[in-house]
Amino acid sequence: MTLTQPVRVRFAPSPTGRLHLGGARTALYDYLMARQSGGQFILRIEDTDRNRYQVGSEQEIMDGLRWLGLQWDEGPDIGGPYGPYRQSERKEIYRQYAWELVEKGHAYPCFCTPERLSAVRQQQQARREPTRYDGHCRNIPLSEAKARVAAGEPHVIRFKMPRTGSVTGIDLLRGDITYQNDQLDDYILVKSDGLALYHLAAMVDDHLMKITHVLRGAEWLPTFPLHVHIYNAFGWQQPVWIHLSVFLKPSGKGKMSKREAASLAQDGYSIFTTDLADLGYLPEGVNNWVALMGWSYDDATEFFTMQDLIEKFDINRLNPSPAAINFSKLDHFNGLHIRNLPLDDLQRRLRPFFERTAYHPSDEILRKLTPLLQPRMKTLDEGPALVGFLFAEQVEPDLERLVPRKMTPPEALTAARRLLEVLSDLPSMDPQVTEGPVRALAEELGLKAGSLFNILREALIGQPSSPPIFETMDVIGREVVLQRLQAAIDLLTAAVFVYRRERRER
Ligand code: GLU
Repeated sequence: MTLTQPVRVRFAPSPTGRLHLGGARTALYDYLMARQSGGQFILRIEDTDRNRYQVGSEQEIMDGLRWLGLQWDEGPDIGGPYGPYRQSERKEIYRQYAWELVEKGHAYPCFCTPERLSAVRQQQQARREPTRYDGHCRNIPLSEAKARVAAGEPHVIRFKMPRTGSVTGIDLLRGDITYQNDQLDDYILVKSDGLALYHLAAMVDDHLMKITHVLRGAEWLPTFPLHVHIYNAFGWQQPVWIHLSVFLKPSGKGKMSKREAASLAQDGYSIFTTDLADLGYLPEGVNNWVALMGWSYDDATEFFTMQDLIEKFDINRLNPSPAAINFSKLDHFNGLHIRNLPLDDLQRRLRPFFERTAYHPSDEILRKLTPLLQPRMKTLDEGPALVGFLFAEQVEPDLERLVPRKMTPPEALTAARRLLEVLSDLPSMDPQVTEGPVRALAEELGLKAGSLFNILREALIGQPSSPPIFETMDVIGREVVLQRLQAAIDLLTAAVFVYRRERRER
């Protein structure tokens, strides 16, 4: 069932690196839900962890989202009614809400020094107990705690986790998940530098920004009970929680890791969005591929445009089991989307991939090449590689292939000479003009058309396969066609000389 009520969803990356497939998938699902329901897709930058902050990351993430076509309706760059959308600009809001929890008895300032905390941890480890805060500051009277804070004593703010009972979170994909409170910690909500951690900041923001559905990675399941507790402590209504499955390595063994990402590069793959653009993938192909890593429509349909996805995406068909990243599927989807593009669009997208090679075809030539490449490419960067021979200064035909099977060098030479004559007489290399006379020549020579084409192909491009030969000639142009044919004739002439000598000496 698709969504009928407008939803408000957010993609909330931390600017600690580049946009990768996991983030792209969350953002895509968010976007689809918003578009499908007539709701809003919000971009929120969660930059409270200043140690992991990376300059340029925010921009890189936005560029990646835009490349994928996932334009947000509210965000740090465009504003919106619930801003600011960068957490570092919301510090004061979190401070107020943290103290609201303290006043209500759900949180408390903790003055323990790092030294004390590490001693406690060591003792717990020695006793083989789970390491967690021992509650030392839990029961300091509020007035005393406030006085110490006012006096400037360093402190964090911790959640006062109930010691008994349990808490149940409802995940759309996994149903009810119940956690025992005595297994949970008095988690830190605000650090000693006054900056709120994700646990508080994201909950406050999701509430204030009126987020209806929270999509995030399954790595948040262990702290999910804390988040439910925080909502309850404030007395807020919970959003619909959706924890998306993790991605596994292509081998299916283990979670995707940084090291694995580096080794992918060796095979010409990447999990980073902007790399995928550079490797010649289309956003259409990537979105199609990513959409199906955790969701399926009917287990059979595999080709989806963005419009299809907006219409058909269904949060009730999300799959909680981990998905292995399969790059050959990406190649497959990308090929489908390349073939689905209008020619002028494909031509425009191919241009930069030619510009970064030595080949700089004119618009005219690229227009002729595009339909030849379209059925053959899986990625755009294959374009120049597939037709590079067209632009080579010189080709080096292979003598063995220049003399097709069941033909002798003298026969091949005659055929090549006649080809040169016939083609020189033609007014242009337009396939409409060349195809008839070349086929007629094959008949005249008593050759199969294929054999004659093979001689021509080898003479013109020096390799056994290429786009259709007549279109190829048109792209190479008359002058080069005649010149390469002449070079092949010279090569065959020398071959015939050797061939005759050998026969005479027998
Ligand atoms: N900033 C968090 C992250 O990057 C966001 C998690 C969420 O979407 O709630 O993991």
